[in-house]
Amino acid sequence: CAVVGIFGHEEASKLAYFSLHSLQHRGQEAAGISSADGTKVHTIKDRGLVMKVFNEKNLETLKGTSAIGHTRYSTAGDDSILDAQPVFARYDLGEMAIVHNGNLTNAEAVRNQLIEKGAIFQTFMDTENLIHLIAKSSQEKLLDRIIDAVQRIEGAFSLVFLSRTKMFAMRDRHGFRPLSLGRLANGGYIVASETCAFDLVGATFIRDVEPGELLVFEDGKAPQSIKVFEPTPKHCIFEYVYFARPDSSVFGQSVYQTRKDMGKELARIEPVEADVVIPVPDGGVPAAIGYAQESGIPYEMGIMRNHYIGRTFIEPTQEMRDLKVKMKLSPMPEVIKGKKVIVIDDSIVRGTTSRRIVRMLKEAGAAEVHMRISSPPTTDPCFYGVDTPDKDKLIAANMSVEEICKYIEADSLAYLDEAALLRSVNAKEDTYCTACFTGNYIV
Ligand code: 5GP
Ligand code: SF4
Repeated sequence: CAVVGIFGHEEASKLAYFSLHSLQHRGQEAAGISSADGTKVHTIKDRGLVMKVFNEKNLETLKGTSAIGHTRYSTAGDDSILDAQPVFARYDLGEMAIVHNGNLTNAEAVRNQLIEKGAIFQTFMDTENLIHLIAKSSQEKLLDRIIDAVQRIEGAFSLVFLSRTKMFAMRDRHGFRPLSLGRLANGGYIVASETCAFDLVGATFIRDVEPGELLVFEDGKAPQSIKVFEPTPKHCIFEYVYFARPDSSVFGQSVYQTRKDMGKELARIEPVEADVVIPVPDGGVPAAIGYAQESGIPYEMGIMRNHYIGRTFIEPTQEMRDLKVKMKLSPMPEVIKGKKVIVIDDSIVRGTTSRRIVRMLKEAGAAEVHMRISSPPTTDPCFYGVDTPDKDKLIAANMSVEEICKYIEADSLAYLDEAALLRSVNAKEDTYCTACFTGNYIV
């Protein structure tokens, strides 16, 4: 998912709306914005793309100088409208809305405790726990209640809270998911999952919200920083591999450069003789450029992508996914015919995409197809906010590289290894989560 928060701007909800467009890649199932005008919190949310949910008319009703927004892709909860965000609530201190990127790992235990004490839940989202924890906290001020509440939750959370007059941004102690702080041209502030949102609305990057840090935005004041947890960074390495947009900088590094470096590493450790290097668009593009530069083999556009179809991964049933892959990618015969082709993709999850691509390229006349993947085999599911399928559906959890190669019918298959991946992200010590490649979960 993506989160955004705008504070101190006459057109807050419009800026949130534009920001959500640039964060659309982080979730396509639902979108929503809440704004605050000092006396009320207004919310509009629905299923579908940002473009579908909002129009000039309904944006006009989102009044106020602060706003928070969300694009959803479901990792917890289901895909009904109830599970769209922001989550809005009226409680003893007034009104509030929350947006959340991540996954709470103790959500069920907390929910059961709350239900035992009489709470009634409207959704299946882990985020709703926070509303109850805040409403039930014995503290008097919202700020203290938020601190209270986040101390009861575990796992991954980049959160933005909106009250009638204030905004709060918070990142879990590990900083699994990104969250950056920027300044708007008029002196207001923006927080967003990725910096590509800043570039779009003309904001300047200040810094990342620190792991374990809570930022408080109040009229006429610089954001106040509160260290709620001692930071122990475990940034999601998968943001670099696949999730974030190449024009963003996350965890202090350009996503594009990092992805390109992964391709260069891949060329060094897994070379193969070939005529062309082609990417699986769009995810494989930066790594393929890196691979081509490092190997000296020409880079070509060998697969066309139809951009008017959403990401295949998002569709829940296998049948829909198969159909979507077919509609989405088509070969360029003039690039491929009679050639030895290196195909670069960022990851293999179920294997459906790779299998289809190899077959398609062979049908288009490729002499050889060598698959190169710019991350290690995805062997374990993510519990921190990325929607990987269960272990039994992850091809690399159930087959060796050799077996996968056979299954996808490629002439050769090779992955980046963990050490090379960590080199590409310039990892200092142990500051990255790599659990989906290693099974080493820290929470
Ligand atoms: P597969 O068909 O192996 O399940 O899907 C792998 C392909 O899906 C890759 O091309 C990858 O870029 C793309 N993809 C789309 N969304 C995701 C996601 O959330 N995680 C991963 N690992 N790959 C995804
Ligand atoms: Fe990211 Fe993988 Fe860790 Fe999930 S398990 S937070 S996708 S690195």
